[in-house]
Amino acid sequence: KGKRSGRHSVLCYEPDMLGDERQRRFVERELRAALMMNELELHYQPIFSADLQIRSHEALVRWRHQVRGMISPAQFIPIAEESDLIDKLGDWVLRRVCADLENLGGKPVAINVSPMQLRHADFAGRFAATLAETDTDPRRIVVEITETVPLNAGDVELENLAALRALGVRIAIDDFGAGHASLQYLRGFAFDIIKIDRSYVVNLGASRIDGMIVSAICDIARSLPVEVVAEGVETQEQFMQLRQAGCTAFQGFLLGRPKPLARAGAAVAA
Ligand code: C2E
Ligand code: MG
Ligand code: MG
Ligand code: MG
Repeated sequence: KGKRSGRHSVLCYEPDMLGDERQRRFVERELRAALMMNELELHYQPIFSADLQIRSHEALVRWRHQVRGMISPAQFIPIAEESDLIDKLGDWVLRRVCADLENLGGKPVAINVSPMQLRHADFAGRFAATLAETDTDPRRIVVEITETVPLNAGDVELENLAALRALGVRIAIDDFGAGHASLQYLRGFAFDIIKIDRSYVVNLGASRIDGMIVSAICDIARSLPVEVVAEGVETQEQFMQLRQAGCTAFQGFLLGRPKPLARAGAAVAA
């Protein structure tokens, strides 16, 4: 690809355009290797009840690169989603969680599942097989899905979610309100938890509208009824306002950061 630039209309290469594509392929190759070499790790962030008891944890993948240090999932998940890598990564995350579960104080763990994984008709079946094989109680697993694409009745994605739910796995809508299909999601399928996107939480003090939206989401959730988790709680004021609005669970740096298993497990045991 090229770009015409300047008044001379010279067709020239944008150096960072080339770099981006090369960079993407490089990351994909390295990530595939990292997965094979077991170089990914999971960190666990606690999710609290209104009375500040740890109720569950969210598993968040980390890539500790030998040269580049810690790489954020926001940087490599989108690349993994362009190929079968996301399926391999997802399988690895589920197995890791099943193995870690007993060290998290008998509490449930939420895992993030990409919509790409749900496109495979055998996803729920393979998920169930892994739970059975590792002797994991499905009621201790929450699957978080982000509302990126609208899901319609009869879609394979929804069938996978329904099959997981029939096993006892709970389904959470992640980043609720950040996408464009929020309300359609509410009427589209059966789920258990709404996670209010951090972008609403961050503005709570400054924006009256965001406060009203959060309250309205909590009202809808109460009458469904489903649980409402607030993401990205960073201040005491946000926490109080969210509790006031009717959120039932809270996650954020104010209450606890994502930590390696040993430290997350110790916090639950304490
Ligand atoms: P998410 O599922 O919405 O996870 C919450 C993100 O917010 C995490 O970022 C977490 O560290 C961060 N966070 C938690 N509390 C706070 C807070 O108080 N303030 C701020 N500023 N941030 C907070 P992280 O770990 O970088 O993950 C980013 C995203 O990557 C996740 O967003 C999720 O969509 C995706 N992701 C992470 N692990 C996995 C995975 O195992 N599989 C898949 N498919 N996606 C994953
Ligand atoms: Mg999540
Ligand atoms: Mg989220
Ligand atoms: Mg989020």
